[in-house]
Amino acid sequence: METLANYINGEFTAPSSRNYLDVFEPATGQIYAQTPDSNSADVDTAVQAAAHAFGAWSTFSANDRSKILHAIADGIEKRLDEFAEFESRDTGKPLALAKSVDIPRAVTNFRFFADHILEFETESILGGNGSKNKIVQKPLGVVGCISPWNLPLYLFSWKIAPALAAGNCVVGKPSELTPYTAFKLGTICTEAGLPKGVLNIVHGSGQNTGSAITSHSEIKAISFTGGTKTGETISRTAAPQFKKLSLELGGKNPNIIFADCDFDTMLATTIKSSFSNQGEICLCGSRILVEDSIYERFRDAFVEKTNSLIVGDPNENNTDLGALISKGHLEKVLGYVALAEKEGGTVLTGGEKTLVNGRCAGGYFMEPTIIDGLSADCRTNQEEIFGPVVTLIPFSSEAEAVTIANSTQYGLAATVWSGAPEKANRVAEQIDAGIVWINCWMVRDLRTPFGGMKNSGLGREGGDEALRFFAEPKNVCTAE
Ligand code: NAD
Repeated sequence: METLANYINGEFTAPSSRNYLDVFEPATGQIYAQTPDSNSADVDTAVQAAAHAFGAWSTFSANDRSKILHAIADGIEKRLDEFAEFESRDTGKPLALAKSVDIPRAVTNFRFFADHILEFETESILGGNGSKNKIVQKPLGVVGCISPWNLPLYLFSWKIAPALAAGNCVVGKPSELTPYTAFKLGTICTEAGLPKGVLNIVHGSGQNTGSAITSHSEIKAISFTGGTKTGETISRTAAPQFKKLSLELGGKNPNIIFADCDFDTMLATTIKSSFSNQGEICLCGSRILVEDSIYERFRDAFVEKTNSLIVGDPNENNTDLGALISKGHLEKVLGYVALAEKEGGTVLTGGEKTLVNGRCAGGYFMEPTIIDGLSADCRTNQEEIFGPVVTLIPFSSEAEAVTIANSTQYGLAATVWSGAPEKANRVAEQIDAGIVWINCWMVRDLRTPFGGMKNSGLGREGGDEALRFFAEPKNVCTAE
């Protein structure tokens, strides 16, 4: 069994406590590795290494930092197949998805910020009024990056890349459920010539390692992606220290389908937005709002298409849905199906654990599930499930669709399907969400702001927003 290590000051080191956590392969239910459960002493060692490295790294030109980030991207790209296998084994997601989405996007994250930092205005002058103002964007120092298990390297790199590009040093923690690609990233960074201590990867649980990062007095900012409850805990810890916070949290995203949409395109995309990555993407649409004149047509076609999806071994090319992340999560998601039935819902398809034969017999698989007949305000329609479960809700007017869409505590993403651009834009404008897709889903231009409203988060990632988050503007005003 492989034992993973922290990557601190450019070296792979064991946690000082010698405490480890089991790492499971969700598709088989077997333990295949041990990952450090690091404590505050390990985090402090990482912070000291980062603080020491900051002196030199912050004086690197943007161009030099950019070259190293490109070299990291090259390193991952060269081992794309291998990294995809690691990611699929850690998460249970289909290997084909890890190959086509997760790892390519991690490469793109490094490349994008390697290029974007060269266009980012780090110094500007404002004259007039008898003074000259020189405004400089200065890196913050040591920053913490904490990421979840659903898109491990994709989301870890989405934080690390802008932090490093802007001249900060990082103490990062991937999810303890999916540590493997972050562990392998250490070697890539060393090979790419990243100076020691600039990126430190400390593994462990949220309770031990995560909270040691968020409470460390020398960490100036926390970029976090994960659950809303965890975001709340982190805010409570970090706010009294006046740390900058970027929080990307949960969602309960509405898909609004109008009768005048392109039905076939909508249907094909709605299958993806419901069940990609087993529904374990924060941007998946989990409440499908359908205009009542096409409700039956949509319901029947959607159920039929869902029934043709294959739940199976992530290594098989024809697998659409792999395993859920853990036994506990599978039970939680199945618990929501039971709750939905108690709340008066009808399970139109799915709702059960799936048994996959052979090497995956002990895996955490579940049928893609569609439920209807629920009120918009019941718990099933209000709480994040984060699995392959969607509900259908009919609506009869634009206003009703908007009211239902906005009726949860969340505001991350939404999708509007309509052939009438004015109507689609009018509805999009009224929806409380950080991103609204019209007639598409998951289309991303990395320059645009990304994040959630309400309890889906605080702040924005992407493009200039991310680089500004990892910088402190300073103004020097000289009399003229
Ligand atoms: P989680 O909140 O349990 O864990 C996320 C990370 O935080 C992990 O690394 C975990 O170890 C760490 N953590 C846990 N407790 C902590 C604490 N007290 N202090 C510091 N760190 C702590 O979330 P998860 O189950 O890994 O991920 C699923 C959640 O993430 C879902 O709610 C999903 O919507 C959300 N998510 C949001 C986005 C987005 O962009 N908004 C993207 C992906 C996932």
